[in-house]
Amino acid sequence: MAPQAHRHALRQNYWPTAAGAAIAFPRLDADIDCDVVVIGAGIMGLNAALELAGRGVSVAVVEAEHPAAAASGRNGGLVVPSLPRVGPLDVVRLLGDRYGPELVRLVADGAQTVFSTIERHQLKCDAVQGGWINPAHAGELVEGLQARVSAWQRAGSRATWLNAAEARQRIGSDTFHGALYDPSGGHLNPFGYTQELARVASEKGARIFCESPVLRVGSGGGRYVVHTPTGSITANTILQCTNAMQGGPQSLAPAVARSFVPLTVFQLATQVISADVRRTILKGNEALSDTRNNLFALRFTADGRIVTGGMAPVSQWMAEPRLLRSLARRMERIFPQLYEVKFDFIWSGGAALTPDFLPRLFEVGKNWFAPLGCNGRGIAMTTSLGQRLASYVVDRDPEVLPLPITSAAPIKAHTFARYVPQLLLPVGILQDAMRR
Ligand SMILES: Cc1cc2nc3c(=O)[nH]c(=O)nc-3n(C[C@H](O)[C@H](O)[C@H](O)COP(=O)(O)OP(=O)(O)OC[C@H]3O[C@@H](n4cnc5c(N)ncnc54)[C@H](O)[C@@H]3O)c2cc1C
Repeated sequence: MAPQAHRHALRQNYWPTAAGAAIAFPRLDADIDCDVVVIGAGIMGLNAALELAGRGVSVAVVEAEHPAAAASGRNGGLVVPSLPRVGPLDVVRLLGDRYGPELVRLVADGAQTVFSTIERHQLKCDAVQGGWINPAHAGELVEGLQARVSAWQRAGSRATWLNAAEARQRIGSDTFHGALYDPSGGHLNPFGYTQELARVASEKGARIFCESPVLRVGSGGGRYVVHTPTGSITANTILQCTNAMQGGPQSLAPAVARSFVPLTVFQLATQVISADVRRTILKGNEALSDTRNNLFALRFTADGRIVTGGMAPVSQWMAEPRLLRSLARRMERIFPQLYEVKFDFIWSGGAALTPDFLPRLFEVGKNWFAPLGCNGRGIAMTTSLGQRLASYVVDRDPEVLPLPITSAAPIKAHTFARYVPQLLLPVGILQDAMRR
């Protein structure tokens, strides 16, 4: 085990320390007018704003804190061309023939969309397109994962199958039984990516306002009026990209807030790993996430740390010390060469989970859209969905949408349902351990 893992003071969120200086955007302190107002400066909202500004639309972004304050600047940075748990066949079964194949294509191309966006706008965010590797942690999962590879291949994805020897060699651990490998995946500094999206969107003409929480949405003259404590924005269209950061009495759209389960996910960054050990793990600098219910994910940072993460089972009580111990032990079981590795950083963020693991595109009112629910694989999905939604707002061509526009459907017994994933995690962990 890693006995010293929590003996020194741990720092919060590693990503800002490794990103360039953040741009300071002003607070909204006037009453302004624009065509589209985006609420929330995460990856989704900023991709939409960038696309809109690039097409000459008058767009303003209004953010409660600063760009990358929430999940977009606090996630693991794995760029994954896949959905959590569901494969292409499930997507078509759930969404039907009109939207299913379109969403599958969007997901298969999702990582490439991220890296192409980074390339096109020269975003400085330590992006590495080293591939995404999704290994089977138990032999009994191999057949199902191979079938998943075939289904993704038929959908046009670049995924291939690595047998046990190939997977073990590439990963540097003999605990895996084969893997899905997609060379279009990779990793980045998510805080840097989001901040850079804000920089470029603002250079292209998007007006970005920080420390300006939207308190309520009113209307006047057939247009929306978005109110913050110190100003307002009148607009024709609202893109509400607030993800898991909503709910409570101040909720802008209560039905949307009850249509997903907010989930607290922790991330940890180790000390810098020695070059000798580093050479033995993920030899192509891939991003790894495996088949466990209690997902095991790992990637290296630009300065040679490992970022991994997990959820606290049952409750948030003593979550950090519990996770420090259990995640250190787990990492060591999979990679014995990481014996006694220490963590320097621990932080958490809020993800939005939908019951079927698919994203949503809600219409709160006419021309008020709320996309969300990218679950734990949101970097690629929010990038693609944000861009597509912006394109729809400009052209009104429904063909560009990979999802139907629907009304929010609140989850039954939401007050209880929001605790279900954490309560069920011990069952998932047990199932992970029993699989052979
Ligand atoms: C810990 C963690 C690890 C993850 N790891 C990965 C990963 O490795 N790979 C991956 O692909 N995905 C990962 N995800 C998921 C991914 O981070 C999210 O799906 C994605 O960042 C969501 O982006 P977003 O723009 O929709 O929302 P957010 O980044 O959550 O942005 C929403 C913004 O809205 C603002 N806001 C909310 N309410 C208001 C208001 N009333 N007024 C103004 N502003 C408001 C918030 O301040 C926030 O900045 C992870 C998530 C978490 C939490």
